[in-house]
Amino acid sequence: MTGCKTQQPVDTSNPFFSVYNTPFGVPPFEKIMAKHYVPAFEKGMTEGRADIEKIVKNKEKPTFENTILAMDNSGKLLTNVSLVFFAQSSANTNDSLQKIEMDISPVLSGYRDEISLNPELFLKVKSVYDNQGQFNLNPEQTFLLENVYKGFVRNGANLNKQDQDTLKVLNQKLSVLTVKFSQNILAETNGYLMYVEKGDLTGLPESIISAAAETAKDAGQEGKWAFTTQRPSIFPFLTYSDRRDLRKKIYDAYTNRGNNGNEYDNNKVLAEIVSLRASRAKLLGYKTHSDIVLEPRMAKVPENVFKLLNNLWEKAIPVASSDVAEMQKIINKEGGKFKLEPYDWWYYAEKLRKAKYDLDDNELRPYFKLENVRDGVFAVANKLFGISFSPITNIPLPHPDAQPFEVKDSDGSHLGVLYLDFYPRQSKQQGAWCGGYRSYHVENNKGVTPIVTTAYNFTSPSGDTPALLSVEEASTLYHEFGHALDALFNKSTFNQTSIAWDFVELPSQLMEHWAMEPEVLNMYAKHYKTNEPIPASLVQKIKNSGYFNQGFETVEYLASSLLDMKYHTIETPANVDIQSFEKEYLTSIGLIPEILPRYRSTYFLHIAGGYDSGYYSYIWAAVYDNDAFEAFKEKGIFDQTVASSYRKNILEKNGTMDAMQMYLNFRGHDAAIEPLLKNRGLLQQPATKN
Ligand SMILES: [Zn+2]
Repeated sequence: MTGCKTQQPVDTSNPFFSVYNTPFGVPPFEKIMAKHYVPAFEKGMTEGRADIEKIVKNKEKPTFENTILAMDNSGKLLTNVSLVFFAQSSANTNDSLQKIEMDISPVLSGYRDEISLNPELFLKVKSVYDNQGQFNLNPEQTFLLENVYKGFVRNGANLNKQDQDTLKVLNQKLSVLTVKFSQNILAETNGYLMYVEKGDLTGLPESIISAAAETAKDAGQEGKWAFTTQRPSIFPFLTYSDRRDLRKKIYDAYTNRGNNGNEYDNNKVLAEIVSLRASRAKLLGYKTHSDIVLEPRMAKVPENVFKLLNNLWEKAIPVASSDVAEMQKIINKEGGKFKLEPYDWWYYAEKLRKAKYDLDDNELRPYFKLENVRDGVFAVANKLFGISFSPITNIPLPHPDAQPFEVKDSDGSHLGVLYLDFYPRQSKQQGAWCGGYRSYHVENNKGVTPIVTTAYNFTSPSGDTPALLSVEEASTLYHEFGHALDALFNKSTFNQTSIAWDFVELPSQLMEHWAMEPEVLNMYAKHYKTNEPIPASLVQKIKNSGYFNQGFETVEYLASSLLDMKYHTIETPANVDIQSFEKEYLTSIGLIPEILPRYRSTYFLHIAGGYDSGYYSYIWAAVYDNDAFEAFKEKGIFDQTVASSYRKNILEKNGTMDAMQMYLNFRGHDAAIEPLLKNRGLLQQPATKN
């Protein structure tokens, strides 16, 4: 990592330094030791730098081949070691890997900056971009070139020296402020405890009470009970506590985090962030911050996001209002002489849920034995695409628990390797995800097949009982499998794909639809003891539970999404008064007083970092996956023509062409919002007026 040029002998025992001599070329996991990573990272960066240097120093006129393709082929070793390292540090970590991750992360980000801020490299890229008419590029090459070029531009590569210096100052200020913003939220959250006495616990389940006793004990107040504004503490309290005064107290604390006029107040911090982002957009030649963020996404411009959110908003508000009326009825019936307030919502929603949608997890789990769910998703993929999955023996495993499968196409040809890693363990991160050790690309005119992994933290088997999943876990398996199919079917020529950020969840969320279709449940949801298929009444209950509280959830989510968009489409840098901005905007769009946004401005962590002008993307993807599933439902959920169009137009192309165009090619028209509304129970018949 220094400039030292002395040749060091190559360590031939390091598995990263030779071709993996394994079945399907999977990484030789059993030979890779912690000590191999850092030398491989270092050599990878040295080689990557040399590759870039060669492009920059090339005396010939820049072309697609000698610049863009050469960049795509640069740093191969670094890519290989990074893929293995980060997959292992998520699913099979230990102290050594954690230490390496801490040390290597800033080095890698410095390395990436070095390339993306390299002015000579940019000049080469710009020359190819400006002269692209001469190169007779195909659409995939044009798409890659466009993404590489615009990526540089959004980073400020096109600015003169003075403007680049201004940009650096803006970026530095922003990074300090966004860290401050999130630290303030943390301090405000950690700084609040609501202590209660024994008599105040009425309505709360035993598990919540003992957790609250533990919290108080940890805070040195043994014998009392304490609740915090962290989600696992406050939301059960709001749901079950019979004490309306205490619900109000803790909800006020929750919704005013960062808004208490103390040292952790976020009003000014956010105002400055928003203003600096507006300045930066101007400097980079964009109208607003949103325009920069959305440029490489499916949505492209803020107007498209507003249009979608506003359409959904109009439909969701009346549903939430009718929920209000229903809850008010319960209040009145119970003799409460008050109007429903935001802090009452969870409490009365729970009463509604009990009455209308009660689902007993223990009644359902026996029908979702892990192996049945896994084989069910394989069967679904087989019916849709003709692909098959066979277990592989004698192949290196990333962890002894990982189950390896060879995926074969309908003609029997090899499509890829898929690892499934189901159970929690100390060395594994929380949650579920899909990753890979190799992505599809073309080398010497030959396709290199992908090696994909999915990891979960599912309920484990215990004693004689096999692993019985919850409905949510079964859906999660389908979700990650959808990501895996996206990787297995991909046919990108290049190493670098540019998958639109607001399109990433389409293949995964789409797959979830099959999981709970009655026809599919009949295929796989069989009782683990009797092999009886799941009764129709339970299927109906699962379907109904999907409608629960959707008016509220959609409205509180949309309110935050719209607020995010409103802040980031400010055109002129200005000192915004956050509290009045929020209030005036939400009133102007007709938010009902019984609901607050899911995140109010001063604790809306998403918009400080990473999801700025991006919180919309959850529902954006949901609109598209519901509409895409509608395409199947119109012709039958296993229709071969639709399935093959989905594979050809979307899964094979993802990241190699414009996402909206892919969708149009598949569907024939843009997504409608009605399928999502219908599936969430938000399609209301217009009320008849008397
Ligand atoms: Zn996902």
